[in-house]
Amino acid sequence: MFIFFILGLIVGSFLNVCIYRIPRKKSVVSPGSFCPGCSTPIRWYNNIPVLSYILLRGRCQTCKSRISIRYPLIELLTGYVFVHLYYVFIQSRHESFSIFLIYSVLCCALIISTFVDLELLIIPNEITFIGIPLALVLSLVFPGLHNAPHTLRNFSLINVNRLDAFVASLFGVLAGGGMIFLCSILGKLAFRKDVMGFGDVKLMGMVGGIVGWKLSVVIFFVAPFFGLLMAVPVLVLKKKHLIPYGPFLSLATLVCILKQDYFIEFMNMYAQIFTILFTGFHS
Ligand SMILES: [Zn+2]
Repeated sequence: MFIFFILGLIVGSFLNVCIYRIPRKKSVVSPGSFCPGCSTPIRWYNNIPVLSYILLRGRCQTCKSRISIRYPLIELLTGYVFVHLYYVFIQSRHESFSIFLIYSVLCCALIISTFVDLELLIIPNEITFIGIPLALVLSLVFPGLHNAPHTLRNFSLINVNRLDAFVASLFGVLAGGGMIFLCSILGKLAFRKDVMGFGDVKLMGMVGGIVGWKLSVVIFFVAPFFGLLMAVPVLVLKKKHLIPYGPFLSLATLVCILKQDYFIEFMNMYAQIFTILFTGFHS
């Protein structure tokens, strides 16, 4: 777990680069990291995740301009996500390492989308246009993605073959993207302006392609709760009327991936209540 935490910190450091460069249409590989204030290249010993931020006290060594607290926070967040995914997928469910890796990549894509969306109100096409076809291909190569008993990812009751997994992924893309698309159409009819961007449609399409349609539906209903929790103080304090929705979809996805066992328990509970009510009425 410690190894995956360190790995998460290093990957998080790379995600910081992606968050800054992808929407600005710059290469994420070269040149190496540099200070956005004075363009001085950052030496490796000043580029150690979290630690360098603390040692430099949040300032560039050359020009002393402030380094955003966002950098170490994203590194820590990625570290936390990797450890938690490892715990859920490998330690408690004994799933294959490839499934754990695919979910790690999905979470990285969500972290990039979230912080780009928060800053610039866009979800980069570079993420979703690669993400959606990749989800379909990965489902074909690793059918285990849609074949996990006792989770919301079991597509059918019998063993899922490659074609089933591909269909499951396609259902996920259509369900995830479709629900948001429907909302954006209804929102436009009701408020006569765009309430939800097409970026959100593509983002949920990508998520659906990996998690399948069942978990997509759960995410769709969980996201507005996070949205409300955040939107009310933002609207009251800052009087800003445009709030990106992508971060709430991403947050809901993360929570649903990591805590889906609880959601299954809840749903079983409701199913039982309905069964009791239903049979009660008939007896
Ligand atoms: Zn500088």
